[in-house]
Amino acid sequence: MSGWNIIYGLINFAILAAALYFIGRKLVSRGYRDHREAVKKSLARVKESPEIVQRLYDSVPEKIAEGERACEEILDAAKAAAEENSRLAREKTDEEAAILAAENEKTLRLTRADLRRELGGETAEKISSAAAALLAQERYAPARAALCRRQIEDFVRDYVPYPGELEAFLDEGAARISVRFAESMAQDEALRIERAVAAGIEKACGKAVRTELNVLVDPALIGGVTIEVGDTVFDGSLAGQLRRAKDTLASSGEEEGKLSDALREKLAAVEGGMAIYQIGHVASLSDGICNVTGLSDVMAGEMLAFPGALRGMVMDLRESSVGVALLGNYDELREGDTVLRTRRVMEVPVGEALLGRVVDTLGRPVDGRGEIRTSESRPIESPAPGVIERRPVSVPMMTGIKAIDALIPIGRGQRELIIGDRQTGKTAIAVDAIINQRGKDMICIYVAIGQKESTVASVVDRLEKHGAMDHTIVVCANASAPAPMLFLAPYAGAAMGEYFMYKGRDVLIVYDDLSKQAVAYREISLLLHRPPGREAYPGDVFYLHSRLLERAARLNEKAGGGSMTALPIIETQAGDIAAYIPTNVISITDGQIFLETDLFNSGVRPAVNVGLSVSRVGGAAQLGAMKQVAGRLRMDLAQYRELAAFSQFGSDLDKATRATLHRGDRMTELLKQGQYAPMSATDQVIALYAGGAGFFDGVELRDVSRFEEGLIPFVHARLPEVDAWVLSGKKLEKDQLEALKAVVAEYAENFK
Ligand code: ATP
Ligand code: MG
Repeated sequence: MSGWNIIYGLINFAILAAALYFIGRKLVSRGYRDHREAVKKSLARVKESPEIVQRLYDSVPEKIAEGERACEEILDAAKAAAEENSRLAREKTDEEAAILAAENEKTLRLTRADLRRELGGETAEKISSAAAALLAQERYAPARAALCRRQIEDFVRDYVPYPGELEAFLDEGAARISVRFAESMAQDEALRIERAVAAGIEKACGKAVRTELNVLVDPALIGGVTIEVGDTVFDGSLAGQLRRAKDTLASSGEEEGKLSDALREKLAAVEGGMAIYQIGHVASLSDGICNVTGLSDVMAGEMLAFPGALRGMVMDLRESSVGVALLGNYDELREGDTVLRTRRVMEVPVGEALLGRVVDTLGRPVDGRGEIRTSESRPIESPAPGVIERRPVSVPMMTGIKAIDALIPIGRGQRELIIGDRQTGKTAIAVDAIINQRGKDMICIYVAIGQKESTVASVVDRLEKHGAMDHTIVVCANASAPAPMLFLAPYAGAAMGEYFMYKGRDVLIVYDDLSKQAVAYREISLLLHRPPGREAYPGDVFYLHSRLLERAARLNEKAGGGSMTALPIIETQAGDIAAYIPTNVISITDGQIFLETDLFNSGVRPAVNVGLSVSRVGGAAQLGAMKQVAGRLRMDLAQYRELAAFSQFGSDLDKATRATLHRGDRMTELLKQGQYAPMSATDQVIALYAGGAGFFDGVELRDVSRFEEGLIPFVHARLPEVDAWVLSGKKLEKDQLEALKAVVAEYAENFK
């Protein structure tokens, strides 16, 4: 620890010297050839300048002491925490102690990382202000003037107006030009700029436009020139360059050891060139949506940078302004604030580093486990793979839930809707499906939209407890987040999934739930004054879900060979699946799993309504053996449903009817399954085979699950080859069926 502090102190010292050297050298090499010798001399003076060196030198011990104090504090806190934990650990079991120790480690790591970021920011700040003070010195006046002249030359030579901006000039009949120099310059220079703009506009559109020139002297620029033409800023000021170098550095979160190198690189890259960006201004602000004027060339979907770390996404392009959805806390934002274009559509980080993490819509970690280091990103909206790139669904995506795998089988690349009222076990099915992918080389993404933070935390906790977090990414936009975050979260999740899909991996993505996304989108649309349609949803709400779900696919080998299976969730009101959003999503997906409150309350869990649920393509992906046993089950249940209604009226039923009801009761019982207990395909086949072959008929209803629990290990022990039979994907042969039947019969005979 203390070694690092000394290094930190020394770095400060070394970097300052380096900053002086590099900035000095840059200035020299630019446009001031006549006075090169003079500058060289002054540079030499700078290098030797005793008072600067002395000042820096004096501050080293102080820096070291400061750093050491901070480290002492951390160490003390860590020690206290460790002592507290070890005291607790003595009272706890081994398992609890292990958890505490892990937490302790986490806090330590966090503190260190936080401190590093803070120190990095401070260092960058100090360097840039020291460099600014140095560059402002009188002896550099000739160098600064040369820089300024060169920038003007560059501008006059290269100026071309942006197309959107040109239009604005023509509309207004005038182009506003504002020139800021760091120190007073000849009026001629400003006029040259004005003439260049007028010529550039005339050349671009063949028409002359009036220009309005405004010249300012602003010593805060330190050196160079800043030219604003309409909304576009050509910033060549030294102050701007230092600020940009500092910002990138402060946010880079570099390791302490690498900070000096990074800074040196940044400062070496400080050039005489100009940064060009287009700006706009916040015109009005309401509930997470703002109107921005300016930005004439902005793209739809482009990310905008607001003051601070706030980002926004362009939602609406209007004639004289753009509607922007704000992504984050906008309390500090005021009308009149400056907005910068980033020239990039919205993107999220993607890659392996995200696995096991909980992130927000922008891919920023929210699990307190430190930074996610990944170099790749993908736009959150991207076109779905075309027909030619796809191939039919043919590989099962087992959920481990009997009622689903047998009756509503899902294939990789399919989109299967989970729909039902609130509290009917929708999330439970999705979570079980994720848990069942343990060790199956399937990447899972759980997108939580508009849920309570505590609900998401408990899902993450469950996934962790069942060892499913290693292959899972959780994207959450909680109920308290601004509506745009909720609206964009599914697309962000899809982008993260696509990364793996195009790399040939299989992905399962759960959107929990899309009704809340639709509501968030409705809110945004109304605030943007788009005309409301049915149930106040905007006209394009279908497209909201279709373009998302179309991205689920099974790719052919040429396109990457991966797949993305989507399980969107929709919440209905009072079981109304014919409402607007449910019908939309039902028509987009390849089937639905319909969950019913009545079934749930009567203890049938998962509460799947087998009659109203369907999987339109998954049958092709079902394992042969499963198809074999499920066919019988489906028939039994259909007959049972028909007769169950009649049976309520009278007791004198004929024998056949009674047998059907008896069988149906047992099958229904057999399909009940607890949470977090996904079953393997073989186990499901064994249980369902026994049901279909009538072995449960002699078992009391309350004994069904006990019978099943005993049966499965018994069959595995007697018939170890049964796993291979089922997983081969083929139907069971006659002799295999007979062998299975014999073992089950033996078990049934001895069951008590
Ligand atoms: P919401 O509408 O609030 O999102 P939901 O439809 O997602 O609810 P869940 O949260 O999954 O429903 O489940 C509701 C409750 O039912 C939970 O307490 C859960 O533990 C329980 N539950 C779900 N499935 C089962 C099951 N198969 N066996 C026993 N309990 C279950
Ligand atoms: Mg839920």
